[in-house]
Amino acid sequence: MTNKVRDPENLDAQELDAIYAISRVVTRASELEASLDEIIGIARTVFIFDNVVLYVHQQADRFEPSYARAIGRGRNSESDLAWGEPIAKDVLEKEKIVVRQEITGDFTKDRMKDRYFLGLPLVSGDQNAGALVFVRYGGPQFTPEHTHLAEYIAGHIAQLYEHGNLVTQLSRLEAERQLERLQDDFVATVSHELRTPLGFIKGYATSLLRDDANWDQDTRREFLTIIDEETDRLKELIDNLLDSSRLQSGTLRMDFQPVRIDTMLRDLTLRARSFDEDLNIEVNLETSPLKVQADPTRLAQVFDNLISNAVKYAPDSTVKITLSTHDDHAHIEFSDQGPGIPAEDLPNIFTRFFRVPNQSRSIRGSGLGLFICRRIIHAHQGEITAESNYGEGTTFHIYLPIMNHESGEDS
Ligand code: ADP
Repeated sequence: MTNKVRDPENLDAQELDAIYAISRVVTRASELEASLDEIIGIARTVFIFDNVVLYVHQQADRFEPSYARAIGRGRNSESDLAWGEPIAKDVLEKEKIVVRQEITGDFTKDRMKDRYFLGLPLVSGDQNAGALVFVRYGGPQFTPEHTHLAEYIAGHIAQLYEHGNLVTQLSRLEAERQLERLQDDFVATVSHELRTPLGFIKGYATSLLRDDANWDQDTRREFLTIIDEETDRLKELIDNLLDSSRLQSGTLRMDFQPVRIDTMLRDLTLRARSFDEDLNIEVNLETSPLKVQADPTRLAQVFDNLISNAVKYAPDSTVKITLSTHDDHAHIEFSDQGPGIPAEDLPNIFTRFFRVPNQSRSIRGSGLGLFICRRIIHAHQGEITAESNYGEGTTFHIYLPIMNHESGEDS
């Protein structure tokens, strides 16, 4: 069996034109159904038929109609039409052209009851990929010349399907390759991030253990402090990695409950100040008590992250926290007057592992913080966005749906 379209001998000039027009549709094919519509439209100019159905092979001996058009007589009564399923079955079993007629012989009866079928195999590579069935109501019957012309049409439609399958296979392969690349990038980034603190820990621990060195009390304390800090960093990194993969797979457990957002922000600020006395932090609560449905631990994680980013990237700036309402949402802003984020990097800052390039190497981070923040806020049916003027500062906006009075208890 072959899927090659035969040389167009024995076709008249108009038929040849139509076949060439069809082959042009096949070569620039983009969307399958639209291309089939175009081909069927062209075919109708040289070939009479009322219905056309394309059956494609599924697994084993199953086949399904994948395209059908009622064009001529009977297009107003599509549901009652014969769609030539038994003919398609025959074509697929015998793997050859089937011509059949169902005639009542009673001319006083409805002409729609006289049906003429032409079924052609659709051959893709060496396989019988399906069947193309043309139906005529009330004649004329299909002659060998008609069959010959229909073979060209079927040949081109088979090519169209082959082309579509190839495109699907290629995009599947490309998606698999892309996934492999992402996994490789992930492993490389994670290994790099884990190795840095591990390197410090190993280096300072080995130094402390050296027999030939006699470290004084202060140096020993300094080395141990570094080991302590790097261990914290390693733990934070592993926690972040775990959170991010659980958020990615949707397996991070959230414990939602009514939360007073104004109280939470006030507590958070007090806590941040108690850890760092020099921290310049201002809270401006513009609204009366506001309740949202939230997991308090996870929401605090987001707020902590934004404060610690402001401290890291805008060390000399005041961190301003504002709570207001926006439509039926609580609107929380975290703003600093630090270096800001370049406009071209701003759209990427919530992407996993993204860090603004060329920033000071002494500011350490993994690029996971904001990714985790956005996922957590999305899990709260909220939104987080960033606004920044390079050189002037950055503001993060968080919007969380306010609980209506009936759904929460008063506090
Ligand atoms: P990390 O801080 O671990 O690098 P994040 O996901 O928290 O990762 O932040 C992503 C990037 O966004 C940071 O690397 C930094 O370049 C930029 N960024 C975040 N917050 C600020 C801020 N307040 N000011 C300037 N740049 C910021």
